Amino acid sequence: MPTPHATTVTSPRQLVNPRERFLYAAMLLVSLLVYGGLVFASLTNPQAAASILLYGIMFSLLGIFAHGLALGRIRGNAVRVSERQFPLLHRLAATHARRLGLTRVPEVYVMESGGLLNAFATRFIGRDFIVVHSDVLELALAQGEGAVGFIMGHELGHVWRGHLKHRWLTTPGRLFPYLGAAYSRACEYTCDRIGAFCQPDGAISGLLALAAGKQLHPHVDVREYAAQAVSDTGFWIRRAELMSSHPLLPKRVAALLKAGVTIPARGQWTAMPGSAAAA
Ligand SMILES: [Zn+2]
Repeated sequence: MPTPHATTVTSPRQLVNPRERFLYAAMLLVSLLVYGGLVFASLTNPQAAASILLYGIMFSLLGIFAHGLALGRIRGNAVRVSERQFPLLHRLAATHARRLGLTRVPEVYVMESGGLLNAFATRFIGRDFIVVHSDVLELALAQGEGAVGFIMGHELGHVWRGHLKHRWLTTPGRLFPYLGAAYSRACEYTCDRIGAFCQPDGAISGLLALAAGKQLHPHVDVREYAAQAVSDTGFWIRRAELMSSHPLLPKRVAALLKAGVTIPARGQWTAMPGSAAAA
């Protein structure tokens, strides 16, 4: 059944978190000030100019080298998704990319990660990639494709919004205390809504799977979990979030509920095997 979220939104542009635009502007301002300061220092002191140029080139090359190596390792070992290889993921990526109007579907890889339930989008020299940990795909085997479709939609959201493009332009702003993390969290809220736009029936399950795992997430009480966002706001919880690139999961769930995403039917809790003997 379509959710209110899906029926009232006609364009994904309506789903962009307003804080994302504001914080990007703040990061850009900080970055331009830093770059402007470096240009000014170079113009007034030719000796400093050589050092600034040298360090700039050195750090850029190091960054490209490290990113290229890390991605090369993934692309060399992980399973590349195609029409014949994990066709479910291939179909979800193509369908959601079309829905978002992407001209190119990013290359998708499935990677074993020791039980870690995650996925991420990355970009290297003009090409976009999405890496899905194999446990996420196992979710689809266990629970159907909804949650995986949401996670795919979320990652495609990063590509669609250009979160991975021209990152060098805002690097100083990203390193500014709290600012880069706040921007990243705003991007996550946007992409959660993009994921829900693409796959409304898997949005809540997708986030709950990150919180409780692929087996237990159907047993989580969604409203109670979302209420943790309001009830559990102690000093250390707030500090942990302020320094994190991702919002707290109960807050992400609460944000989707507020946006009108429907709650999936809750699984019936049954005793774990062996619990009767232990009692
Ligand atoms: Zn994300």
